[in-house]
Amino acid sequence: MQAFTFNALPGRIVFGPGRSTELADEARRLNLRQILVLSTPNQRLLAEAIAQQLGTLAVGVHAEAVMHVPDTVATAATERARSLAADGIVAIGGGSTIGLGKAIALATGLPVIAIPTTYAGSEMTPIWGITRNGIKTTGRDARVLPKTVIYDAELTLQLPAAISATSGLNAIAHCVEGLYSQDANPVASLMAAEGIRALAQALPVIVAQPHDADARSLALYGAWLSGTVLGMVGMALHHKLCHTLGGSFNLPHAEVHTVMIPQVAAFNSAAAPEAMARIAAALGSAQAASGLYDLVVRLQAPHSLSALGMREQDLDKAADLATRNPYYNPRAVTRDNVRDLLQAAYEGKRPA
Ligand code: NAD
Repeated sequence: MQAFTFNALPGRIVFGPGRSTELADEARRLNLRQILVLSTPNQRLLAEAIAQQLGTLAVGVHAEAVMHVPDTVATAATERARSLAADGIVAIGGGSTIGLGKAIALATGLPVIAIPTTYAGSEMTPIWGITRNGIKTTGRDARVLPKTVIYDAELTLQLPAAISATSGLNAIAHCVEGLYSQDANPVASLMAAEGIRALAQALPVIVAQPHDADARSLALYGAWLSGTVLGMVGMALHHKLCHTLGGSFNLPHAEVHTVMIPQVAAFNSAAAPEAMARIAAALGSAQAASGLYDLVVRLQAPHSLSALGMREQDLDKAADLATRNPYYNPRAVTRDNVRDLLQAAYEGKRPA
């Protein structure tokens, strides 16, 4: 057996349909009395309902979260939390809202309770990100890891099928890279394989029947596992490429993950045979890369960068940016092999 290092992250998970009704008890458990509730503008009603449920424990709703946490948005939210003398944050929504909660925690040390309503997985990680002048800076800080996470599938029933599919594939991408991570460990790998299995089973049902409560719970279970993997072990080329494509070419976050993950799996396949065998087994497919591609197509999610609006003439620049600094990947990364990978992703080719 290979040597490994295992770093457990603290956190309390409350999982089950309807369990967001236990939020006030969870807040009291953390001794919170003055909570600011965060959401995006289009989840404001949900945030207001949560604040109402908290009663006197809530001091306000701040429904201003947007994708990639612009620094101005983070500063305004932090000032709001300070002006209300908030002693804790409830972030209800996807990675954008949880990201805003983390930015406040980074600036103030306030504890965060996360109630995720997508499958992106940010709630399980100590990773923060803030965008300044179009450049997203990320870092790890234990203070931003939510203290309590409530997974309530009832809150995900309205997540549109298309966002469910891409968000779920974003989660699968965390599991895929977790399996060939430089610091992979047996527990994270068990979680990653189980996360892929759960999401690959749940997502086709959700796309066909978005209100299927059991499939929603199964997907949220997969999202929890995938977020835990993302928080526990380092990622590789896929996450680097998605960061570059999203940040420098303004492509949508979850959709980029969806397009890239089959192509990066194909790229890494010969260099990480054990991980690929586990991915294929979890998908119930003959091969990892083609199995991921077929899942993307089955979910009617985008499978080419061209479909996301990437321009072919920008592929050279993307390859330059993504290979500027060295980082771990199971297969050696060069400017030329990444350029070829980007071409395949641009065209949306099914991996052989
Ligand atoms: P998102 O949070 O931007 O949400 C997408 C849209 O869906 C938003 O308009 C939101 O209001 C809406 N929405 C969310 N849940 C809904 C529901 N249940 N019903 C109806 N509408 C709903 O998207 P995301 O993919 O969850 O998050 C993406 C962001 O998260 C990116 O900025 C990414 O970098 C970040 N992220 C960070 C980490 C981390 O560990 N720090 C991990 C994953 C993602």
